Amino acid sequence: MLHITELTKTFNGKTAVNKVSFDVKQPKMIGVIGRSGAGKSTLLRMLNCLTTASTGTISFNGEDVTGLRGAARRQWQSRCAMIFQQFNLVPRMDVVSNVLHGTLNRRATWATMFNLYPQDDIHKAIEILDRLGIAEQAPKRAEALSGGQQQRVAIARALMQDPDIILADEPIASLDPMNAQIVMDALRRIHEEDGRMVIANLHTLDTARRYCDRVIGMRDGRVVFDGTPDQLTTGV
Ligand code: ADP
Ligand code: ADP
Repeated sequence: MLHITELTKTFNGKTAVNKVSFDVKQPKMIGVIGRSGAGKSTLLRMLNCLTTASTGTISFNGEDVTGLRGAARRQWQSRCAMIFQQFNLVPRMDVVSNVLHGTLNRRATWATMFNLYPQDDIHKAIEILDRLGIAEQAPKRAEALSGGQQQRVAIARALMQDPDIILADEPIASLDPMNAQIVMDALRRIHEEDGRMVIANLHTLDTARRYCDRVIGMRDGRVVFDGTPDQLTTGV
């Protein structure tokens, strides 16, 4: 499925990700762990083509997706939708519009203003929100929601694209323990029920152990551990 070979990213002479290679043969739930600065975020951003790799390749189902541009890049980004620590919603826009935002990109604001969203898309958005337990929040502004609810809106926005892969960059780092659990449960369900691959950067080992099938440990830009949570005995 996903085949990553010697992926490297250098910023002004400093190597953030150093020859990272791994394969994902089935849609697993994968946790990437490691201290701050280990290169986790840069790795995910390269997978999503938010950052261009310096060297190395990423291929998905035999297709090279390294350093795509333009329409091909946008298409890839909808197949591997990303969620972020700070949710990255439009705070003053309502929840449904936020969910639909990704489907239309820049045109979304105008589409909402002039009620241009296709009814089917609106229904799909509400269904996804319902599945995540936040359908009743749909008409509210995103900024009126709790952090855990906002992250679920971001997950809904990702699901709206029907992605093969969900990339989550520290999805629970800004949340209290209860909301963190709700968000991780949601990601786990999406993996199990829909068969989507989830790759989540996590800063705690415990979370990775509890939710992930496979753990990739990074340190100084390199992979220093790659295995199941049971094989993980020491800190990374
Ligand atoms: P992590 O997500 O594990 O905390 P990052 O991928 O954010 O690690 O960062 C890895 C290294 O790359 C750090 O040393 C960081 O300072 C550096 N880095 C990340 N993004 C940039 C950037 N845009 N410009 C320069 N250096 C960066
Ligand atoms: P206020 O009542 O403080 O003026 P508004 O609700 O009118 O705030 O929105 C402020 C900004 O947020 C506007 O510039 C508008 O473009 C944007 N915005 C708010 N709601 C939406 C929406 N549903 N779709 C797109 N943009 C929105």
